[in-house]
Amino acid sequence: MSYSQLDRPVQFLKGVGPKRADAFLKLGITTARDLLYHVPRRYDDASTVEPIGRLQVGMDASAIGRVRSKGVIPTRRGLRIFQAVLEDDSGMITVAWPGQPWLDRKLREGDTLLVTGKVRFFHGRQIQPREYTVLARASERGRGAGEASDTGDPERGMVFVTYPATEDLPQWVLRGIFDKNLDALLSWADDDEYLDPGTRGRLGLPGLGEALTLLHRPSSPYDAEHGRRRLAFDELFFLQLVQAQARRKATALKPGIAHRRTNEFIRPLHESLPFTLTGAQARALREIYADMQSEHRMNRLLQGDVGSGKTAVAVFAMLLAVEGGTQAVLMAPTEILAEQHARGIRSLLAPLGLEVQLLTGRLGAAERRDALEAIASGAAPIVVGTHALIQEAVRYRELGLVVIDEQHRFGVRQRMALLERDDGRPDVLVMSATPIPRSLAMALYGDLDISVLDEMPPGRTPVKTALRAPSARDSVYTFMRERMAAGGQAYVVYPLVEESEKIDLLSATQEYERLRSGPFADLRVGLLHGQLKGAEKDAVMRAFSDGDLDVLVATTVVEVGVDVPNASVMVIEHAERFGLSQLHQLRGRVGRGAVESHCVLIADPGDDALERLRVFRDTTDGFEIARADLRIRGQGDLFGSRQHGRDAMLRFADLLADEDLLISAQRDARALIAADPELAQPEHRPVLDHLQARYRHRLAMYGVG
Ligand code: ADP
Ligand code: MG
Repeated sequence: MSYSQLDRPVQFLKGVGPKRADAFLKLGITTARDLLYHVPRRYDDASTVEPIGRLQVGMDASAIGRVRSKGVIPTRRGLRIFQAVLEDDSGMITVAWPGQPWLDRKLREGDTLLVTGKVRFFHGRQIQPREYTVLARASERGRGAGEASDTGDPERGMVFVTYPATEDLPQWVLRGIFDKNLDALLSWADDDEYLDPGTRGRLGLPGLGEALTLLHRPSSPYDAEHGRRRLAFDELFFLQLVQAQARRKATALKPGIAHRRTNEFIRPLHESLPFTLTGAQARALREIYADMQSEHRMNRLLQGDVGSGKTAVAVFAMLLAVEGGTQAVLMAPTEILAEQHARGIRSLLAPLGLEVQLLTGRLGAAERRDALEAIASGAAPIVVGTHALIQEAVRYRELGLVVIDEQHRFGVRQRMALLERDDGRPDVLVMSATPIPRSLAMALYGDLDISVLDEMPPGRTPVKTALRAPSARDSVYTFMRERMAAGGQAYVVYPLVEESEKIDLLSATQEYERLRSGPFADLRVGLLHGQLKGAEKDAVMRAFSDGDLDVLVATTVVEVGVDVPNASVMVIEHAERFGLSQLHQLRGRVGRGAVESHCVLIADPGDDALERLRVFRDTTDGFEIARADLRIRGQGDLFGSRQHGRDAMLRFADLLADEDLLISAQRDARALIAADPELAQPEHRPVLDHLQARYRHRLAMYGVG
């Protein structure tokens, strides 16, 4: 890769040096490029900054001025208030920070401050700032007279920028460093440009140099947004590029099986099925059949809410594989789930005379040997089990389709490992019951094609959801007892396993003891949590599933798709501690049988989360809940950035707001990889350089590096 000035260590920039270079490390900044991409987190439009003389009581305002005088004022109650008088050409105002006397040491007379807060009346006009920023130090004023160092002239219609700062690198220091270096940094920005003007024009995006100028020195907040979209596109494009390479490796590099459809099994299943497929199921199946019948390998995600009928779709796909003479497997994340699937699929296929082979760790030695033999000889056309199915010494006669249930519990690597098998060239269908918005699915699973079941089978009784205060707990227990007297079962879910000294929460273990010796002393109560061993967990879950327990006290481990149709009550304690998507998964554990089911959220009425819980109470649409969850909690650590380094994070892109960019990024990335798979053509060199320099971890994660 050609050397750019942007690769220089940040230490050698003006005004940095070894000590500040250390401080920059905390912000994740090591090179000049990192500094250039360290863009402001906040913009204050000068036109919204009021001249101090015009501030009126009651306004929520931002003001800029110099500190004229300052001091700490003690009050009678012992509270010490730091006060400063701020002045600009139009007037003066008092700014007060109650309880922060130490600011007296930090702020100096002559410093220029930006303050934001409500103007109130207290011996004259006063602001108690929500936020403040030192725009310039008294001693720095007049130095480095570049444009960006201009700190306080609202008349000029500029925008005040605030950088992400730290204790060691406060705002005014960062601003000083940018004053000295930004012109040079921006002049190097075009070294990183990889988009030609034609493409930029088509996408309506500025060049890199221009985008970064807009972000660092906007003349309106709209400028900054325009610049942000360019960097957001870059992030999404390179993510999609890695995934497009993975997708090509999975689907096109080695030929797959063009499955032959004879309808030998598919038609009889349609005839014996006690229902007709929903429109969404039929659509997904058409997409899956087309993939499977083509020469290309299928690499597809089937996304649908709990109960949307994914299993039925998977079974039809498996039958297509079997009709052509290959084998199909379905992998579940736990043994219990595998057993449930095997039971369900067996009953569907019994009328067709097709055997379903179960393979789990619970088989005895002789049974296991027989199973492996049936799999190797092809006598078992359909196999259900855990991930051991594709890992250990299980050899197939010819593996034609692998269906992976609850795909988030298996890694990308396991999916990619399927490509290396020599006992088949299986098509791959992964299923997820965690509804996520389309844009998020595209970002996370850009290497997969996606089918969505966005329609529920008819005739379901929606789960009734109620919100209760902790004081109503006894009446909740009474309600539960009534349901159990009628033969039902119930879950009670808690956020933590062990009592924590710091957080006063009901813990599952403690509450289990309380419930079984108190309110439910005459009932059979079980305990399930993440610290039990696998076999212990299985035993408890099996007992509940077999009806040997009435109440299951649990942590979120029950979230994974277990199916106990007889369970009709789900009580969630400290509901405010759970994310919406998690609550949705938990609620999905009930409402699976014929009787009406209930979900009771117990949360403190004073809690901030109450609004969020009301949203949850009032909708059962998983996709709507997922959108709300993403909006409320933010994108956070979607890509497991802790494991994969900074290159895996989205800093600029907003998955909800930038769906259009994501669609363009995916389309362009896939087209590029289709045209030049190895990015070997000279005009794609800048893209290749950028990819290899900055996305090494991602490439390795998908095994395409
Ligand atoms: P998922 O795996 O998506 O959670 P399942 O495939 O287990 O959902 O289906 C849930 C239930 O709905 C099963 O009892 C299944 O037999 C039933 N079901 C599936 N498709 C339909 C349909 N089109 N009409 C009616 N019931 C259906
Ligand atoms: Mg195929």
